[in-house]
Amino acid sequence: MPPKGYIEVNELYCKACELCVTDCPHGVLALDMERLTPRGYHPAYMVDPDACTGCVICAVVCPDAAITVYRYEKQKAEV
Ligand code: SF4
Ligand code: SF4
Repeated sequence: MPPKGYIEVNELYCKACELCVTDCPHGVLALDMERLTPRGYHPAYMVDPDACTGCVICAVVCPDAAITVYRYEKQKAEV
């Protein structure tokens, strides 16, 4: 099973540059055209959260350090 992750976007910093959207290898991200950040941008959000692997590429390419990535830990099955 591929690793699973999720991200949080700090909307105070996001400026809708779309770098994270275009560089996410799994098509997880999009700009939310229904909402505006406090600075008046459409924020990035997870349009397909189940596809996130926690690869961190979005956080690395974000020029405003707006993205925090979390990874789910694997748990050993009880037998
Ligand atoms: S951590 Fe990786 S898979 Fe998840 S949204 Fe960011 S770039 Fe996409
Ligand atoms: S790369 Fe950063 S600033 Fe650009 S859209 Fe994504 S979260 Fe917003």
